[in-house]
Amino acid sequence: MEKAWKLLSQDAKLSPENVKEPLKEIRRALLEADVSLPVVRRFMKRVEEKALGQEVIVGTTPQMALVKVVSDELTELMGSKGAKDLEPGFPQVVLMAGLQGVGKTTACGKLALYLRKQKKSVLMVATDVYRPAAIDQLVKLGKAIDVPVFELGTSVSPVEIAKRGIEEGRKLGVDAVIVDTAGRLQIDGDMMTELKDIKAAIKPTDTLLVVDAMTGQEAANLVKTFNDEVDISGAILTKMDGDSRGGAALSVREVSGKPIKFMGVGEKMDSLEQFFPERMASRILGMGDVLTLYEKAATAIKEEDAQAQMQRILSAKFDFNDFLKQWQNMNNMGGAQMMKLLPGFNKISEKQLYEAEKKFKMYESMINVMEEEERADPDLLAKSAGRRRRVAQASGHSETEVTSMMASFTQMRAQMVTMSKMMKLNTAEGQQD
Ligand code: GDP
Repeated sequence: MEKAWKLLSQDAKLSPENVKEPLKEIRRALLEADVSLPVVRRFMKRVEEKALGQEVIVGTTPQMALVKVVSDELTELMGSKGAKDLEPGFPQVVLMAGLQGVGKTTACGKLALYLRKQKKSVLMVATDVYRPAAIDQLVKLGKAIDVPVFELGTSVSPVEIAKRGIEEGRKLGVDAVIVDTAGRLQIDGDMMTELKDIKAAIKPTDTLLVVDAMTGQEAANLVKTFNDEVDISGAILTKMDGDSRGGAALSVREVSGKPIKFMGVGEKMDSLEQFFPERMASRILGMGDVLTLYEKAATAIKEEDAQAQMQRILSAKFDFNDFLKQWQNMNNMGGAQMMKLLPGFNKISEKQLYEAEKKFKMYESMINVMEEEERADPDLLAKSAGRRRRVAQASGHSETEVTSMMASFTQMRAQMVTMSKMMKLNTAEGQQD
């Protein structure tokens, strides 16, 4: 996917020419992420319509503008921004459905723990009378997280167990009841009938379909069938910690209109997370969160600031005042943490970030004690050991540290000059066309 973004040059608008190749790359990336073809087709059509003619905000690049369009559309496809929680109720009753082996029983435990963390009391109900091992598994899970489990062995019907489980929940006065059900290896008429019967008997506040993220394209069919048959209220996507690229996540909402509410990211009970479509979008795009950066740039950098700075960069002037300004802009956007959002930087460690931030703070304190003429003309400091010593003393740092700041500054300035030359070259080429 990274390749797609490199294909865009420094244009001011998204045009059919400059989005053609990136869009091809995006399409390929989606198919690779195991999104089903019809879903990809409809999606690409919408992206193209929205992208064309889109203005590029000053201080950002066409690449960011396209990322924004794609990311917005992906987010929309998965149910708009923000996570959807369980429906309210007294008690909340959550019916869990899904094929065997997808992680349904594990998800019951995870959800119970999630609710416990919100200080809610929970009861779990075991109705898989076909597999005694499944009942034992839920009982064990319950013990581990200190949540009671209601079960009546294997000789009572699942519908009856579910009903009595809810009664027990009311008697205990719990805030939530989670009902585990039997899965099958494949979609099966008996399983659907049983689910429908249980649902009719207990009138759950939520009916969640548990889907294995590794299912890929087939997830579309699966979700559609379950939703047509039992009318789900949402889904839990499990095994998101595996190498799945999240294609299943796109299909769920598109074929059922129902949101993914949670995702499982490991075997442990605490590895359940709420599902944020916007975060999933950037995971599918397979890049650092350029989008967040774009939005932060749009709000943090004042338009005139960005323009003035661009002008200075273009004229290859870059002094300590600009250096400071860059740093302050970065601070407005969340400081060094922001670096994490840049493609290629998302693997940077907290420690490295901390070090970088510390360094920049030190630079800031040095620039703050400089004289006006030193800020405007960095060469003064470069040429005079006396000036460097004074800055060191006034800012409470060593001369070596001041020298190292000068080195960083020189490096950054060199990058700016190169960038400015490249941009001029681009503009010149553009004019010849
Ligand atoms: P069920 O048949 O649907 O009830 O599936 P189980 O809850 O028994 O889970 C099947 C297997 O998947 C077990 O080995 C679980 O530990 C594992 N599992 C469940 N959820 C996740 C998850 O989010 N990530 C990973 N890596 N494994 C999971």
